[in-house]
Formats: sequence, structure tokens, C-alpha cells
Amino acid sequence: MKTIGLLGGMSWESTVLYYQLLNEGVRERLGGLHSAKILLHSVDFAEIEQYQVNGQWQQAGKKLADAALGLERSGADMVLIGTNLMHKVAPLVESPIKIPLLHIADATGSAIKSQGLEKVGLLGTRYIMEEDFYRQRLLDNFDLDVIFPDSGDREYIHQVIFDELCRGKFSPESRQNYLAIMNKLRDRGAEGVILGCTEIPLLVHQDDTDLPLFNTAALHAQYALEHAFAESL
Ligand code: GLU
Repeated sequence: MKTIGLLGGMSWESTVLYYQLLNEGVRERLGGLHSAKILLHSVDFAEIEQYQVNGQWQQAGKKLADAALGLERSGADMVLIGTNLMHKVAPLVESPIKIPLLHIADATGSAIKSQGLEKVGLLGTRYIMEEDFYRQRLLDNFDLDVIFPDSGDREYIHQVIFDELCRGKFSPESRQNYLAIMNKLRDRGAEGVILGCTEIPLLVHQDDTDLPLFNTAALHAQYALEHAFAESL
């Protein structure tokens, strides 16, 4: 079993999910007292959020790249960035390290493809929904048609992520509103919805809807486990 390096804390609410899923995945595979080999570098999310708001992506990328280098030096065999949004700086994080950076959009895209879907909705922070880095990767690598909520709904989703989910608040009202937004995407032809923010699966669960949901944190953790148990990376 290889060692998984995780850049976490963005927010820690979802890092908990990664930690649990990685360990459960190892228990499923190896049983007994086995648990995942994980190196975690957990940042102060307030600092990262300030970089985002100020548009200081180079600085954010440098901070995460330094952390990734630290994970590599400590013995990690791969690195995960435990958030969708911060994959905006994935090229900066990847450049100084020799071990692979496992991209969350690749984990997600391949799961969608394996279910045979072609058109999916994407919910996440405004950066994920309004910039191209995530949608384009899903198009280039998996030929997926990705659609987004309208601007009022995008604003709402973004605010709930930062004002509620990343602060550990999960309200029935926000859940219903998210589900209503997903239904609008379904009306526009979405065959499934990507929960493209690692905290959304803490609010909305597959049991809440019959639309196929793609839990990016879970798919990313599963992708890491496949690599952790692969013969070679
Ligand atoms: N965890 C969120 C995501 O998956 C957003 C938090 C952040 O990285 O700013 O995009």
C-alpha cells in the first residue's frame, strides 16, 4: 500500500470526509486493523480564502506547492488537493514535485463516463462554475457536456458554501434550495449532477434525489485508493 499525501483544510469539514473514506477503503480491501497511510498537510482556510478573494492565485499556488513538496519529502507517493476549486492552481502545485498529483476532475470525469452519461450539471464555488479550468478538463479528457445554474442560483450556491457548509452548518432549507436548483438543471437536460465542491456531499445526499449525483470527494478518495494499491503509479 502506497502513502497518500493530502492537502487538506479547504475546508476541514470535507477533509474529515476524505480521512474517513480513505480509511474505510483500506479496511474494505485489507480488513483487520489495517488503515490508510496518509500524510496530511492541513492549511488555515482563512488564509487561502483571502488569496481567493484578492485574486492572489500565484501566492495560493506557491503555498500549496510548498506543502506538496513537504509531503513528497516526507514520503508521500502521490498528492491530492482536497478541494475542487484549488485545482485552479493545480499546474503550480504539480510543477515542483516528482510524484503524481491526482486531479479531482479526472476522478469525477471517469466515473461519469463509466455510467455512460454525456450531459451533466455542475455545482460548486463561483470559480468552478464561471471559469473554464474545470469544465474544459471534463470536456477535453472525457468529452462531457457540462451545464451550470443561472447567475442568481450560482451566487446562492457560492454563498451557502462559504457562509454555511465550510463553517459546519447544514440546514434543511439550503438542502431543499440546492435540490430545486438541481431539478432546474435536469429540466435543461442534465442526466446527473457533479457535486463540484467537496462540502456539498455533506449537505445533499444521493437518497435526496433520483438524479445521479457525483460526489467529488468520494470519487477523489476512491481514485487515490486505486493508485495506492496499483502495482505502479
Ligand atoms: N471545498 C470547496 C471545493 O471543493 C471549496 C473550498 C475552497 O477550496 O475554497 O471547491
